[in-house]
Amino acid sequence: MTSRRPASRPVDHDVAVIGGGPAGLMAAEAATSRGARVAVFDAMASCGRKFLVAGKGGLNLTHQETGDALLARYGDELPEALRAALAAFDTRAVRAWAAGLGIETFVGNSGRVFPSDLKAAPLLRRWLERLRRQGVTFHQRHRWTGWSGDALCFETPAGEVQVKATATVLALGGASWPRLGSDAGWVPILEAAGIDVAPLVPSNCGFEVRWSEHLRSRAAGQPIKTITLSCVDEHGVTRTAPGDLLLTDYGLEGGCVYALSRYLRETIAAHGQATLSVDLAPARDEHALAEALARPRGKQSFARYLERASALRGTRALLLREVLPNAASQDSAKLARTIKAAAIELAAARPIEEAISTAGGVRFTALDESLMARAKPVLFIAGEMLDWEAPTGGYLLTACVATGAKAGHASLGKA
Ligand SMILES: Cc1cc2nc3c(=O)[nH]c(=O)nc-3n(C[C@H](O)[C@H](O)[C@H](O)COP(=O)(O)OP(=O)(O)OC[C@H]3O[C@@H](n4cnc5c(N)ncnc54)[C@H](O)[C@@H]3O)c2cc1C
Repeated sequence: MTSRRPASRPVDHDVAVIGGGPAGLMAAEAATSRGARVAVFDAMASCGRKFLVAGKGGLNLTHQETGDALLARYGDELPEALRAALAAFDTRAVRAWAAGLGIETFVGNSGRVFPSDLKAAPLLRRWLERLRRQGVTFHQRHRWTGWSGDALCFETPAGEVQVKATATVLALGGASWPRLGSDAGWVPILEAAGIDVAPLVPSNCGFEVRWSEHLRSRAAGQPIKTITLSCVDEHGVTRTAPGDLLLTDYGLEGGCVYALSRYLRETIAAHGQATLSVDLAPARDEHALAEALARPRGKQSFARYLERASALRGTRALLLREVLPNAASQDSAKLARTIKAAAIELAAARPIEEAISTAGGVRFTALDESLMARAKPVLFIAGEMLDWEAPTGGYLLTACVATGAKAGHASLGKA
């Protein structure tokens, strides 16, 4: 299989899966489960590198939400093929599948599901071992570059290799963290094959803010815990996200920022900037806060007065001062309003290379209900390279393995 052969030779595999991340591995598992000869090809020296990095802070494998609550996480206009994939392989199925590998899971904060040891490596190791036992072959350092006739072409350390398979599943990932393998090199190849691709954009990402030097030098790298963010989306709907905010020298990061990233990114695309509103005192009522701030200040410094009346100090107070109009510091009602809704202007999303995930990708209109490309029969697409978007919380991996399972099963029908 690793030597150059003429294009007219018989097929080497029933199913070639290109991309050895969670979507591709699940496609391989589904295709091999009924005896197909399956080969996985990956550009990197080992499979699942992004999956391993996802495990560094504790692998959030899936979520405990099911049914409509789960589907709602993937946006208002859920493509039918994605809905069907998630219905057939939902969060319960992800946990059962992990248990089948001997990896028990638990439900943590806000319904997120983690392996009991929080790690990705043991799960990946067992998964790869089981796939090998089932007969799946792995071909590392095989970078897919397109087709020559009906053969798949790969760049390898030994030169170009051509492979023939009855069906192919592409699971090449998005464009974030390209050093882990998913560099979106597939976009021009698929576009040239007549497959419609929505532009790849950062999702679950940080944003840029033009901070003053004063704030940057004092607050960069500092978290502000337990705040609530909100923004108004392009349809006028207010979206909120509680959590911890991280101030950086270029702007903002943090789970609550990522949760709103879709709406913020869309607003910036439409208007050149977006406004993020920060409730710096979510436990306090605005009216009570205004009353406390209205008490005579006497000879106290502004910082002392603010801390006594509102408990705001440190980075929280620095951020307030950054966005507070001068006149408002003398007006308790305006001051209370700003504490409850400190407006931060966002200039841009951070580069896609830094994002947790990618939005955009192969449009569902370019695929049939089995995730097969309309323009290229027997080519199936799975995982993050598809045009869906979801927040963090285990929803990303859930959709990757669900679409991987769907594409793998469907490819078997063609093999
Ligand atoms: C820091 C970080 C933390 C994350 N944490 C979580 C989390 O806790 N929970 C969660 O749900 N999600 C998390 N994610 C997101 C999740 O890891 C991804 O959504 C998921 O890995 C995507 O799976 P995939 O199989 O579609 O693509 P990938 O995992 O990106 O795999 C794609 C594979 O394709 C290969 N490839 C690419 N191009 C080629 C080519 N031309 N030829 C051959 N092979 C190629 C790559 O080498 C790679 O192995 C995190 C992401 C990051 C960056």
